[in-house]
Amino acid sequence: MADEVTFDQFRKKYCDEAACVDVLTSIRWRNGFVCSRCGHNGATIINTRRLPLYQCYTCRHQTSLIKGTIMEGSRTALHKWFYALFLLADPSSSTNALQLAKVLSVTYKTAWLIFHKIRYSISCADAKQLLNGLVEVTYSHYNHQNYGLDASQQQHNQEPFIAGASLNLFGEVTYFKLKHVHISSFRAHRDPYDTDWGDFLIQHVHSNVKFPNVYKYTNDFRASETLLLICQMVTDSINDRYFGVSPKHLQAYLDELSFRVLNSVRPNKGVVKLFKLLATTTTITYKQLISTPPHSYQFVNAA
Ligand SMILES: [Zn+2]
Repeated sequence: MADEVTFDQFRKKYCDEAACVDVLTSIRWRNGFVCSRCGHNGATIINTRRLPLYQCYTCRHQTSLIKGTIMEGSRTALHKWFYALFLLADPSSSTNALQLAKVLSVTYKTAWLIFHKIRYSISCADAKQLLNGLVEVTYSHYNHQNYGLDASQQQHNQEPFIAGASLNLFGEVTYFKLKHVHISSFRAHRDPYDTDWGDFLIQHVHSNVKFPNVYKYTNDFRASETLLLICQMVTDSINDRYFGVSPKHLQAYLDELSFRVLNSVRPNKGVVKLFKLLATTTTITYKQLISTPPHSYQFVNAA
């Protein structure tokens, strides 16, 4: 197994744009350049700009390495995107947007946007991965202000999420996902309705799975111990790193946390995966990101 690469080592390797261009090219066009308009695989490379421009031999369509990806339109240097990617994926790092702004020497808004675009690529990848095989589903709560509050206030701040996992024959969790259930603040209790469970099963569990085990109580002892432990660590994991996140963006943080935990089994596994997502996830604008996230699990029957 390869040794873990530290952030300093990573930073030395990707210290300039040329190193980043090489690796991004090899991911995006693994078998060589392909024109997105006509499919031809020959191009002239124009090197007069910050990033090389590829002009198709046949239809003369021009494109760049970041065109169509989440980095499209960004004026931030590629190596800064790479550093952000590393810090988000690294399980031992605890960098938030404020700290990232200092590391990259960019504004807070730019750092926030870079992190959220990377989170968006994680959410897109998760949306395509359905739970399969032996599936267990339960739920728990995230509390964005769990410090110094009495029990009734704490309950008011609770945001429910449904947690589902694929298990292997040994009962080990091989994949899991956490999906926020949007519940109106006027609703007295903060538990999911039947429709929420139904929506989760439709959206996130493969149709092959006829009998998923659904446990509709928090901390149900019949559920997988690992899945329960994951549920229990959500609040502290998110709050320790981000000091509490708003319900509006909770889904992005739940997806990020799931990604980080799932990829913590091998050194730098998450970083390698994120490289691919960075180069292949289609673009999203700032406006779309700050509106209700389109990838979040929507509560359909809000009271
Ligand atoms: Zn072409």
